[in-house]
Amino acid sequence: MYQNKPRMQRMTKQRRVILEILRSTDIHPTADWIYAKAREIIPDISLGTVYRNLGILKAQGEIAELNYGSTYSRYDGNPHPHYHHVCLECGRIADLPMPVRQDLEEEARAKGCGSVLYHRLEFYGLCPQCQRKREKEG
Ligand code: ZN
Ligand code: MN
Repeated sequence: MYQNKPRMQRMTKQRRVILEILRSTDIHPTADWIYAKAREIIPDISLGTVYRNLGILKAQGEIAELNYGSTYSRYDGNPHPHYHHVCLECGRIADLPMPVRQDLEEEARAKGCGSVLYHRLEFYGLCPQCQRKREKEG
C-alpha cells in the first residue's frame, strides 16, 4: 500500500496535465496531438498512458470523445452537449454556438424506439478558410 502511493499520485498528475491540455484548446485534438503536448510537460509519458487517461476522463464525464468512423477519434474538453461543424477538406472541427434541440429528443422518444439519453448532431461542409481557398482557386 505504501509503495502504491507515489504511483497513484503520478497517475493523478498525468491525468490532470492531460485534462488541462484538452481544456486549453478548442481544436478537438487527436490523442497524438495531446501526447505531443503532454511530453513537453512530462517527457517520459507514453502514448498508452495518454489513451488510458483519456478513457478514464471520458468515463468520469470530464471530456467527450468524438468518433468519426474510420478516422482517429478527436477529443473535446467540453463534455456538455453541443453541436459541431466538421470541415470535409481539412478536418477542422468547430463548436457551433447554437442551443441543443431538446425537442428532437422528445420527438425521437415519441417514435417508440425506446429511451433516448442524448443525441449528437454534426454539420458537414467547408470551414471559412477552406471555403475562401476554394473560391480563390475558382
Ligand atoms: Zn477546412
Ligand atoms: Mn466541441
